[in-house]
Amino acid sequence: MTAITNLLDLDPDALVNWCQSRGEKTFRARQLQRWIHQFGESDFEAMTDLAKSLRDKLRDLATVTAPDVISDHTSADGTRKWLFDVGSGNAVETVFIPEDNRGTLCVSTQAGCAVNCRFCSTGKQGFSRNLTVAEIIGQLWAAEFMLRRSKGVAAGPKGERQITNVVLMGMGEPLLNYEPSVAALKLMLDDNAYGLSRRRVTLSTSGVIPMIDKLSQDCAVALAVSLHASNDRLRDDLVPLNKKYPLADLMAACTRYLDFAPRDFITFEYCMLEGVNDSDQHARELLALVASVSCKFNLIPFNPFPQSGLKRSSNARIRAFAQILMDGGIVTTIRKTRGDDIDAACGQLAGEVQDRTRVRERMQTMSVYQEKYGKDFGRIVEISG
Ligand code: SAH
Ligand code: SF4
Repeated sequence: MTAITNLLDLDPDALVNWCQSRGEKTFRARQLQRWIHQFGESDFEAMTDLAKSLRDKLRDLATVTAPDVISDHTSADGTRKWLFDVGSGNAVETVFIPEDNRGTLCVSTQAGCAVNCRFCSTGKQGFSRNLTVAEIIGQLWAAEFMLRRSKGVAAGPKGERQITNVVLMGMGEPLLNYEPSVAALKLMLDDNAYGLSRRRVTLSTSGVIPMIDKLSQDCAVALAVSLHASNDRLRDDLVPLNKKYPLADLMAACTRYLDFAPRDFITFEYCMLEGVNDSDQHARELLALVASVSCKFNLIPFNPFPQSGLKRSSNARIRAFAQILMDGGIVTTIRKTRGDDIDAACGQLAGEVQDRTRVRERMQTMSVYQEKYGKDFGRIVEISG
């Protein structure tokens, strides 16, 4: 029996190869890719300008299948969150954040995460598995065309693009699922797919140094590095990967990356944890640490979850911390917390129940899921409120 290929698994070069090995010319691959990624089309019969013979081959040999949507919630502030089924009881989340002049999609790259940062609920769930290319790009594909349908915007290159920016900042560590993440990035950038500029696509990493170097050669998109600490002792505790890739080496890797980056700075993310990493002294230590790296800081108010034992720094403390960085000459932003009412904020991308008033809604989602996978489901999506 011939294997069926999910065309969402193929990056631009792989799709050309796939078509060529079936006797089709390169321009047919480009045409097909536009149908899939610009028109959101999954029915080969609807791809009317493809030869009938090619449509027949596609019908027999291929599909265009994104992960199923388990739930779809829109927050009061317009943030929309989907839970996607990635099989075997695993689910990942994708979040759309609309702003005045752009729409950002936050995409997951793994079910769970092996890095196990102390303040991250994804890390606390453990690692389940890497997502495939189809599961990563499928989040963008599904989200873009669902958003267009909700707003009545036409599919195709003439319809207004809903997603203008993508961040690989959802569940998982993209640089520990390197090849599929890069294949998905290549589709995001390709003119016959999403055509986003490298400046509008950001990969966030906890600091997998060899892969930062590799990314600079393979697909140098904008880079965000999750720093969270100003010295190795503290970072070893918060981001265990630091024991393998300590701060001095990480700073050197950031500097090397800048030679290839689409922007002239690295974004350092810093989760503000009360009494842990948020003192004036920590801010001053940070200024010394990053002195040789062109960077901006994005301070993220910690989103608490029940088992963490950690607290969010007060707004006054976050502002004082930001001021020290800014007085030291570093552009610093404080991340707005979005989608709080649907648990779509950073580090909540696992479905914990924080607010007991929403337990019922959660339970409904869970019961759909448990019907499908049995009562033991709940490795990634768990009720813990
Ligand atoms: N694994 C990658 C990308 C996913 S995490 C990374 O660590 O960079 C995306 C961002 O969310 C990271 O900066 C992470 O530190 C932050 N984050 C995780 N848990 C959080 C929480 N509970 N509150 C606030 N930010 C959190
Ligand atoms: Fe993994 Fe990033 Fe969470 Fe750390 S913060 S556990 S690297 S997803």
